[in-house]
Amino acid sequence: MDAFQVGTKAQAQAVDITRQVDSHVSAAAIEEGAVLVYCPHTTAGIYNNEGHDPDVARDVMAHLEKLVPRDGPYRHMEGNSAAHIRSILTGNGVLVPVSGGRIALGTWQRIFLAEFDGPRTRNVQLHYLSGGGNRVG
Ligand code: ZN
Repeated sequence: MDAFQVGTKAQAQAVDITRQVDSHVSAAAIEEGAVLVYCPHTTAGIYNNEGHDPDVARDVMAHLEKLVPRDGPYRHMEGNSAAHIRSILTGNGVLVPVSGGRIALGTWQRIFLAEFDGPRTRNVQLHYLSGGGNRVG
């Protein structure tokens, strides 16, 4: 397993972590396969979506806030149930293909860490799945 940390700066924030993931994949020398980008937290998430226009990430976070308001009829005493629920909606990991030693994203795709209960330091784990040598026939 490989890992790195991300410091978030707001209560709710989408942080583009594509560059960090790609540089770790390059250093790991995985030629073909996939990397599971996993966030071991219950109030943050990981998702893969458009990163070219930063307004998309802002819209995603604003809509999640609208869907799951911070203040609601929640029972959880810690007061961050909205962050737990939003984390379930994004999921806490994405599997990204690796080809030629680099992550193989679509043209507009970027990998984001979604902070829902910041600011704080988050851990991102990278689990490599090597696909080398798998040939059909
Ligand atoms: Zn909690």
